[in-house]
Amino acid sequence: MVEKKKLQVEAISTGTVIDHIPAGQGIKILRQLQLLGTDLRITVGFNLPSKELGMKDIIKVENRLFDEAEASELGLFAPKATINVIEDYSVRGKFKMSVPEQLESVFECPNSNCITHNEPVQSFFTLKQRENDIQMKCKYCEKSFSKDIVAGL
Ligand SMILES: [Zn+2]
Repeated sequence: MVEKKKLQVEAISTGTVIDHIPAGQGIKILRQLQLLGTDLRITVGFNLPSKELGMKDIIKVENRLFDEAEASELGLFAPKATINVIEDYSVRGKFKMSVPEQLESVFECPNSNCITHNEPVQSFFTLKQRENDIQMKCKYCEKSFSKDIVAGL
């Protein structure tokens, strides 16, 4: 069992391992966190077997830690993901994501008539979990959108 795990999750010396990502969300996270097109060393696994999820995605990023804003974005796509902070081949910190209650200045409002596009204000969304989606409500135009639309994915 231990051997099997090792094969699934090849060790990295320093960096971040995002585990328990629902299958299919891994690619969105790579895009959203703008991890593609960088020279970061990234190992991804898609559709790996998972007891909890059936299938999961996993992303390992070497020599990179995530800040709070990035962690919030991550919570949007993989609220049940686990973030493992790796130092010297061992897990130094481990935390679970949760859906943030609100997101400020991360995304633009998809409503082209929204005041946020013309006024010097930061975007602000309140988030609500729906069955299979997260609805984001703009504070300014009060319209609600699916997270995928707001994130432009
Ligand atoms: Zn708006």
